Amino acid sequence: MAGCVFCDILRGSSPASVVYEDDEVVAFMDTYPVYGGHTLVIPREHFDDLESCPGNLAGRLFEVSARLGSAIVDAVGAAGFNVWTANGSAAGQEVFHLHLHVLPRFEDDTFGLRFPKGYPQVVGREELDRMAELINSRL
Ligand SMILES: [Zn+2]
Repeated sequence: MAGCVFCDILRGSSPASVVYEDDEVVAFMDTYPVYGGHTLVIPREHFDDLESCPGNLAGRLFEVSARLGSAIVDAVGAAGFNVWTANGSAAGQEVFHLHLHVLPRFEDDTFGLRFPKGYPQVVGREELDRMAELINSRL
């Protein structure tokens, strides 16, 4: 897709330090790593986000991410890793070519999610059931 920095990498018109590639999936080092070993996993075909990606391909992205996570932990001496994706700008997505971050984590690192004020709130079963039904009706 024109104007997509990840498609530029796939075309070879932008540099990347490729960790892994196959016919569907490519993984390369994040240019701005949170910690050393921070890797991005993308589909070769351009999809804006997780919503628009076929399920079997999304599964491949997670499969590769899990394998990479183990390798990254071993390579950098991490204690664990996160796999996550941002879906939409409100969720923090900046590059609109689906990508999974594989981020090594350490026992004493300072990276983390920030919970909203007032968290945690006690939510009753009735409200949880109502929300489950609301979401399920849209699947
Ligand atoms: Zn793209």
